[in-house]
Amino acid sequence: MSQAEAIGQARQWLAAAQSIAVLTGAGVSAESGVPTFRDALTGHWANFRPEELASEAGFRAQPQRVWDWYASRRDELKAVQPNAGHHALAQFQQRHPGRLTLITQNVDGLHQKAGSPGVLALHGDIHATRWLDGFPGGCSRANQADEVCDVSAASPGRPPRCETCGNLLRPSVVWFGEMLPIAELEAAQQAADHCDVMLVVGTSGVVYPAAGLAHQAREAGARVLVLNPAASDLDEIAHLLLRATAATGLPALLDGL
Ligand SMILES: [Zn+2]
Repeated sequence: MSQAEAIGQARQWLAAAQSIAVLTGAGVSAESGVPTFRDALTGHWANFRPEELASEAGFRAQPQRVWDWYASRRDELKAVQPNAGHHALAQFQQRHPGRLTLITQNVDGLHQKAGSPGVLALHGDIHATRWLDGFPGGCSRANQADEVCDVSAASPGRPPRCETCGNLLRPSVVWFGEMLPIAELEAAQQAADHCDVMLVVGTSGVVYPAAGLAHQAREAGARVLVLNPAASDLDEIAHLLLRATAATGLPALLDGL
């Protein structure tokens, strides 16, 4: 089957699908110029190992350093714009509310910036923060029982800290050795179980449990489409392989549907 025929077949399946799940990875953001995690360890940060900047132990050892690194990455992202791939997904979602569940491994917020609603960010969001510690007794500045500290009680700083108990704010991203956010993961698994088409875009398919969603969808009977310029670990379970980048492939698949 030629690539043109593969795109035609994929469009037929997508047009007929009542429920579509899309899983995106770093390849979708690469075309917007977002450096990969390792590529971002340059210049002043070249001396740091990934574990120092992306683990709870690393944050506890050097909270200001790690906070500053994430701040510098957020600053870089301010200048970065979603590409045609992000826009094709967002526009499809706006034309067909509720029909496409967007699951991403990216923390850069570009799907949200493009206007995609309800993005399931499996690895967190670099623009969000949360408290480092929970306390069995609770912080005296908390407003509610399930709240650790009162966000309004955070004093400015690098990182900001709770004025009462000293708790620190940390980036709300998934670090090495951490669990994925449970609500997002469960919603993604639900989407994988019930979709008619699972479209995997711009991911090597080696990071689990994210990659497991494609296997789960296949086992549940969905058509699996892999859109990636290079071979991926998910090729063997794909019904169709589309060898293109996200910025060219996603508009080719979704525009006009
Ligand atoms: Zn507190």
